[in-house]
Amino acid sequence: MGSAALSLDQADKMVENVVGLFQVPLGLATNFLIDGREVLVPMATEEPSVIAAASNGARMAREGGGFFTSSSGPVMRAQIQAVGIDDPFGAKNRILEESDRIAEMANQKDPMLVKFGGGVVGVEVHVLDSRIGPMVVTHLLVDCRDAMGANAVNTMAEAVAPEIERITGGRVHLRIISNLADRRLARARAVFKAEAIGGTKTVQAVVAAAALAEVDPYRAATHNKGIMNGVTAVVLATGNDTRAVEAGAHSYAARSGLYRSLTRYEINGDGDLVGTIEIPAAVGLVGGATRVHPVAKAAVSTLGVKTADDLSRILAAVGLCQNFAALRALSTEGIQRGHMSLHARNVAVQAGATGDAIERVAARMAEEKRINLARASEIIREMTQG
Ligand code: NAD
Repeated sequence: MGSAALSLDQADKMVENVVGLFQVPLGLATNFLIDGREVLVPMATEEPSVIAAASNGARMAREGGGFFTSSSGPVMRAQIQAVGIDDPFGAKNRILEESDRIAEMANQKDPMLVKFGGGVVGVEVHVLDSRIGPMVVTHLLVDCRDAMGANAVNTMAEAVAPEIERITGGRVHLRIISNLADRRLARARAVFKAEAIGGTKTVQAVVAAAALAEVDPYRAATHNKGIMNGVTAVVLATGNDTRAVEAGAHSYAARSGLYRSLTRYEINGDGDLVGTIEIPAAVGLVGGATRVHPVAKAAVSTLGVKTADDLSRILAAVGLCQNFAALRALSTEGIQRGHMSLHARNVAVQAGATGDAIERVAARMAEEKRINLARASEIIREMTQG
């Protein structure tokens, strides 16, 4: 894919004050078998070894049938914050009494979404105590179909806000989507056969590593970062909003009050490793940059997905796979060997190596276990002199 994949002219229509394009490598992760289908996974990432690790993890999952996925459906929440209400619980019930009418008003704002089978599927009201007094927060639950939905639900929230003020007698402040997309969950499961991943010791080692992330936020943060190495790379490649998905994942990980891992690992009756994941995945195929950015369009077509829901389930599979690959490496040989040999190539380039010399300089440094700029420069000097 050439450097002209996104033109300056297109970029200038996407954001403001455009002065150039910032490129990130795009690679294809291989070996993914998801719900019985072979999937090539485009990943946009600047981090070495992410794509290799995903491909390796996916290869190991194949003997157990690959990844099996499910989802909750594409429902997002919009929040409407009302304050200055004398009887917050009375107001809550008054809103719920009129929820059908509120839903109708919101749906009128997006007939296109309704035409595609989406629209408001529920109204919730949360009464919260805050340091500035009670708040009544109405949630519009909106089926966003193939849209990520932020613009769609924000428009709806703004449209019904005056009605919420009338019903509650209060004042509305914020009217905005929640990125804690707990009604848009994607799940994946894989059985990693013991013999495919290095035997019973590896199975036990992964379970032990994962157990720490279930109880310790310091470890859980890094564990989940590893999941997002895969998820975010696919979100970016498909032109979706990486921050929205990241915010959703991390807030979902903290929903119990303790920040925890988004995956679980168990040992089944056959002694194999069972990995599962559940993540919020607010991604779309229409709207945002997905239909504008030519590379995003190519990525969506490479994935062969027809709906946003299909894409969300691929994200879950990739997240689980990436996490498994990292845990396996960490709990066996450590990740530095693989990481450092890739890192060595970067160091060789920084030191001025070009063409074939990059591999030779990197290999020497990796062999000597001395991967740094000074050593790379020395090796280049030796090579050019000798
Ligand atoms: P959008 O408004 O561009 O497109 C969605 C619209 O497309 C729907 O409202 C509907 O009218 C139409 N549509 C056509 N075919 C459809 C189909 N099959 N299914 C569903 N809708 C269909 O985009 P959006 O998804 O509402 O918003 C996404 C954008 O909002 C992203 O660029 C995101 O970065 C941005 N955003 C995010 C946040 C946040 O996450 N907090 C806040 C504001 C904006």
